[in-house]
Amino acid sequence: MKDKLLFTPGPLSTSPTVKQAMLRDLGSRDDEFIQVVKDIRSELLRLAFVSEEMGYESVLMQGSGTFGVESVISSVVGKNDKLLVLVNGAYGERIVKMAKVHGLNYVVHNFPENEIVEPAVVADLLKQDPAITQVACIHSETTTGLFNPIAAIGALCKEQGKVFIVDAMSSFGGVVMDMKALHIDFLVSSSNKCIEGVPGFSFVLCKKSALLKAEGNARSLSLDLYDQWNGLGKNGQFRFTPPTHSLLAFRQAIRELDAEGGIAAREARYKKNKAMLDKGMQEMGFKYYLDHSIQGHIISSFLYPQDPNFDFMQFYRALSDRGLVIYPGKLSLMDAFRIGNIGYLFPKDIEALLNAIKEVLKEQQITV
Ligand SMILES: *Cc1c(COP(=O)(O)O)cnc(C)c1O
Repeated sequence: MKDKLLFTPGPLSTSPTVKQAMLRDLGSRDDEFIQVVKDIRSELLRLAFVSEEMGYESVLMQGSGTFGVESVISSVVGKNDKLLVLVNGAYGERIVKMAKVHGLNYVVHNFPENEIVEPAVVADLLKQDPAITQVACIHSETTTGLFNPIAAIGALCKEQGKVFIVDAMSSFGGVVMDMKALHIDFLVSSSNKCIEGVPGFSFVLCKKSALLKAEGNARSLSLDLYDQWNGLGKNGQFRFTPPTHSLLAFRQAIRELDAEGGIAAREARYKKNKAMLDKGMQEMGFKYYLDHSIQGHIISSFLYPQDPNFDFMQFYRALSDRGLVIYPGKLSLMDAFRIGNIGYLFPKDIEALLNAIKEVLKEQQITV
């Protein structure tokens, strides 16, 4: 049976060869497996334009992307520290929840969901509250699809001596990012987003000097970032059962990313997908939630058509029956649905989706 195509923010469609790479049983202490882990850790640094020699480390953490973010938030913010969380969507809010659960000392600044995190405002916040030690921000806010200006925020953090934590979950691998140039101290992403692997783990790329300060800070045993790194460094092993199959798939996914021409080439493919989607959806009359100037090329939010015949679940099912999976919206104030163009998707797949949407609109008598 053919798998449906996933126009979602993850898990994403993956190549047949990535899936095939998983069809093995490797022991977690096996030399071959330890080499796989080692390779992945250094390749990830390479993809962020850094290396161990430059003072950066790579930590793999079991679980989905949220586990990686929570590992950083709960391990890096010390007892006498203060975290500033910059929020303009559901993923920023998720970091606030983590800070609350772990009893951290934190402040939140909310921006409207359809606006970027404004660097000038961040500059003021840092000036007004010198006690702030860490700043957390989402790069590609998957709630809406906007890109926050992490370069400008990173420059401010650097200037003010703040640790900069970036959730680059849905962008890393799909956007060229030099983490040193962006002044990112902790960058988090996961196996099943733009690197196009399967779910199973998240990864944290970090400045070693900042990571070392996290020793003994963790509020959780399994999410202790420092301890996880220490374990990987000591014997190349995970502290607890590693997602062996997912790591095998991921190593293959990195090879395929390189074969495609690296992150720049992948970014170009995603942008091409997005441009096709834009053109097709606009021709049908769909309206975007975001202003074009802040819209990223990862995922887009479309407003529901005003026609009373439009029912999202029916629309979704009709597309799903055709083998095409879109995603519900997550906006707090407006009804919208989302279409992602990341993963193992190509212009022909976008064309198939656009044709199917046209058919479904006709079939369900929806005027956009
Ligand atoms: C996907 C995603 C996450 C992680 O979600 P999981 O369901 O835990 O994998 C976190 N932040 C952003 C911005 C995301 O897109």
